[in-house]
Amino acid sequence: RGTPSMNDLKDIIRDVPDFPKKGIIFKDITTLLQDARSFQKMIDLLGHRYIGQKIDKVVGVEARGFIIGSALAYKLGVGVVLVRKPGKLPSETFSKTYDLEYGTDTLEIHKDAIKPGERILLADDLLATGGTMAAVVDMVEQMGGNIVECCFMSELTFLDGRKKLPEGKVYSLLQF
Ligand code: AMP
Repeated sequence: RGTPSMNDLKDIIRDVPDFPKKGIIFKDITTLLQDARSFQKMIDLLGHRYIGQKIDKVVGVEARGFIIGSALAYKLGVGVVLVRKPGKLPSETFSKTYDLEYGTDTLEIHKDAIKPGERILLADDLLATGGTMAAVVDMVEQMGGNIVECCFMSELTFLDGRKKLPEGKVYSLLQF
C-alpha cells in the first residue's frame, strides 16, 4: 500500500450509470474523497502545480468545487471565494445565467469577493461541457479578476468543454 498512482485515483472514482438521468455516467468522487490517502494525494498534486505562482484567491464552484477549492486554497495559503446557486449568498451579488442542454442555470458571487487585478484560480471537480466554468470565467473577468487557470480534478475529454474556456488556461488532473 504505497502512495496512490494516477491510475489508482482514476479507479477509485465510482461510475454511476444513469444518474441523474438515463444515459449519463456520473463520476462519483465521494469514493475518492472518503479515502484519506487518495484525497491527500489529489490535493497535493493539484497544489504542487500552483505553489510558487502568484495567486490571490481560489474560487470554488458549488458544491463539489467547494471541497477541492477550499483544500487547495488552504494548501496555497490564500482565501477561497464561493460561487453559489441562486439565493444562497447573503450579501450583494453579481449573477450569471447560462444555457444548459435543456433550459438555463444561474450562479452568483458576492460583489466584494474579487477586486480588480487580483489573480484568481478557478476550481471545480469535473469539466464536462464547460458551460458552468465558462459562466464563472465571465463573472470573474467582469469583476476585473485575472484568471490564472481553470483547474479540475477530472475532465470528460470527449465533450471538449475546454473550447468554451480561455485557451491555454485549463488544467485537469485526471482524464476520462
Ligand atoms: P459542465 O457545465 O457541463 O462542464 O458540467 C460541470 C458540472 O456538472 C460540474 O460541476 C460537475 O460536477 C457536474 N457534472 C457534469 N457531468 C458530470 C458527470 N458525468 N459526472 C459527475 N459530475 C458531472
